[in-house]
Amino acid sequence: MYALAERLFPICRSITGNGVRQSLQILREIIPLEVHEVPSGTRVFDWVVPREWNAREAWVRDPQGRKVIDFQDNNLHLLNYSVPVHRRMSLSALKGHLYTLPGQPELIPYRTSYYQESWGFCLPHRQFETLPEGEYEVFIDSSLEQGHLTYGEFYLPGKTKEEVLFSTHICHPSLANDNLSGICLLTFLAQELQKKPRRYSHRFLFIPGTIGSITWLARNEDKVEHIRHGLVASLLGDSGGFTYKKSRRGNTEIDRAAEHVLKHSGHPYEIIDFAPYGYDERQYCSPGFNLAVGNLTRSRFGTFPEYHTSADNLSFIQPQYLQDSLEVYKEVVEVLEDNDLFENLNPKCEPQLGRRGLYDAIGGGSESKARQMAMLWVLNLSDGSHSLLDIAERAGLPFRLVLQACRALQEAGLLRGLSAKG
Ligand code: ZN
Repeated sequence: MYALAERLFPICRSITGNGVRQSLQILREIIPLEVHEVPSGTRVFDWVVPREWNAREAWVRDPQGRKVIDFQDNNLHLLNYSVPVHRRMSLSALKGHLYTLPGQPELIPYRTSYYQESWGFCLPHRQFETLPEGEYEVFIDSSLEQGHLTYGEFYLPGKTKEEVLFSTHICHPSLANDNLSGICLLTFLAQELQKKPRRYSHRFLFIPGTIGSITWLARNEDKVEHIRHGLVASLLGDSGGFTYKKSRRGNTEIDRAAEHVLKHSGHPYEIIDFAPYGYDERQYCSPGFNLAVGNLTRSRFGTFPEYHTSADNLSFIQPQYLQDSLEVYKEVVEVLEDNDLFENLNPKCEPQLGRRGLYDAIGGGSESKARQMAMLWVLNLSDGSHSLLDIAERAGLPFRLVLQACRALQEAGLLRGLSAKG
């Protein structure tokens, strides 16, 4: 995942353009995702797919002719979606087009102007303060014209048409945690799920933020009814604890599965309620869709100082954190895949587990104690109305342990699957 992030980092992405295409082609080396192209001007609900933006070169020369800001050095130097310009101007006129962070004077901010024609440059405030008076030359070789919005989609069919949706935004240039971490994690999650038998179908969307999810929803309204659970993946490579932002409905299976996995993960975590601000869960959870889609991140959206600055770079994310995040995602998938209803076939008093080799004759170890408790809970609550996740929560035991107990009891003929979900 980290190596993939390193490859994607230098590419200048935006909500449209060749940077997105190039990034998706790199992902196609790992998973066979489909690339969709939606023409500029296409109406998508209340929005219109914008013109396509591409930038080749952009710089500012100071009065001595030295390039003091250069897009080649860092993609963040150019206001994303800047229109072309080539002119000379005074420092005070130029300042109207310069963006800095006075509170974090060493960092370059990340700024965009997708829906209002503009141009500009972003630079460290420290450098901004040293710009001498005089005439500057400004050059932006970009194009903003009829083209396409590009997104990637990977659909993995399962036994049922019911699906789990994973969505991540691909529109940020040269920012590692936001959101190469989400892109890399979902790519490898998809690759791993591909190799396993699946009950659910899984859909992975690699889309530009906001306009991408709106476009996908507008073009795929007929598919939405199959989405049972979903996660928006972002901010998954930093050292912070985990954050799960609930779906708008708040108590769906994905909300419970995510919270359950985090509770037993050994990592610090926080659960927060839905709010109509953040990433693409805003669109999936808009009232007309109201899907069971949450947002599972590490550090929380907008709360860390590196957020949307040049400090969100490749040293801000680490392979170990990406790996821990992937493990959490995989466990959530396991819970969803295996959460089912069972019936105890010997409900009148406890069955004699010892006779069946299910009860440790010499007890004592805490591991075996937990295994036995899991078995007793599964037997007691498998009355057709409690799912394995219900049982795990009630027992305060990890889902995996409850699932193992369930499998052992099934093998012993004490439990029957009710296959509520096919
Ligand atoms: Zn962002």
